[in-house]
Amino acid sequence: MLSRKTAIVTGSTSGIGLGIARALAGVGADLVLNGFGDRDEIETLRRSIATEFGVRVVHHGADLSKPDEIRSLVGHAQGEFGRVDILVNNAGIQHVAPVEEFPTDRWDAVIAINLSAVFHGTHHVLPGMRERGWGRVINIASVHGMVGSVNKAAYVAAKHGVIGLTKVVALETAGSGVTCNAICPGWVLTPLVQKQIDALAASQGIGVEEAGRRLVGEKQPSKEFVTPDQLGGLAVFLCSDAAEGMTGSAVTMDGGWTSQ
Ligand code: NAD
Repeated sequence: MLSRKTAIVTGSTSGIGLGIARALAGVGADLVLNGFGDRDEIETLRRSIATEFGVRVVHHGADLSKPDEIRSLVGHAQGEFGRVDILVNNAGIQHVAPVEEFPTDRWDAVIAINLSAVFHGTHHVLPGMRERGWGRVINIASVHGMVGSVNKAAYVAAKHGVIGLTKVVALETAGSGVTCNAICPGWVLTPLVQKQIDALAASQGIGVEEAGRRLVGEKQPSKEFVTPDQLGGLAVFLCSDAAEGMTGSAVTMDGGWTSQ
C-alpha cells in the first residue's frame, strides 16, 4: 500500500513511535527512524525492521529540541530517499510537577520537543509534499490535547498546541493532496509511562503491577492500556486512500477516557 513512499517517524527507537514505524514498514514504506538510545541496539533495530518487512530503513539521531537538527533530519531523508511522503511527529517527553514548582528548563524542553518540533518538521516537509500532490502529516498528540490533568502543565499545554497546529496545517493544505491529523492516545504502556508507574508505586508504597492497574483504572474506563500496535494500525489507516477526505481531525484511542 505504501511501497515507494518514505516515512519519517520521530522518536521511533521506543514505544509508540516504534509501533507506528513497524506498522508503516509492514505496508511497504521506507523508513527514517529517529530517537535516542544505544548505538548498537538502534543498529540491530534498524536491520531487523529492514529484514522483516523488506523495506529500506535508516536512522538519524537528530535532537528534536534543536531546530537545526530537525532540518538535518528532513534533509537526510530527502538525500537518502529523494522524498518525504509521511511525517509522523511522535517524539515526546513528560515532566510531572505542580505549576509553582515546575522547573523552567523542563517547561522549555517539553514545549520544544512536544510542540515546536512538530512545527519545524512540518515546515520542512510540506513544500515537497505539495509539489508531489500527496502527503500525510500525523501528529501524536494525546488525550491531554483535549483535557487537563494535574501536574502536567507543560505537557497539556504542548498537546493542546499540537491539536491547534494540526487544524491550521489542515486548513492551509486543504485540497492539495496533503492531510494533517492528530492521534490522541490514552495510557499506553511505554517507557514514558513506566516512569510514572514507578513513581506512583514508590509514593504509595505498592507494587509496580498494582500501580499500573491503578494508573490506568483511574482514567481509562476500558482498564486496558492502548498498545503501540493499535496506534500503528490507526496511522496506516490515516495514510490510506480511505482517509483522503479526513484532515484536521483529532482522533482519540483512549479506552473511553475522554467520553466520561
Ligand atoms: P517513549 O519514551 O517510549 O519514546 C519517546 C521517543 O522519543 C524515544 O524514541 C526517544 O528516544 C525519543 N525522544 C525523546 N526526546 C527526544 C529528542 N529530544 N529528540 C529526538 N527524539 C527524542 O514515549 P512514548 O510513550 O512512546 O511517547 C511517544 C509519543 O506519544 C509522545 O509524544 C507522547 O507524548 C505521546 N503519548 C504517549 C502516551 C502514553 O501513554 N505512553 C499517551 C499519549 C500520548
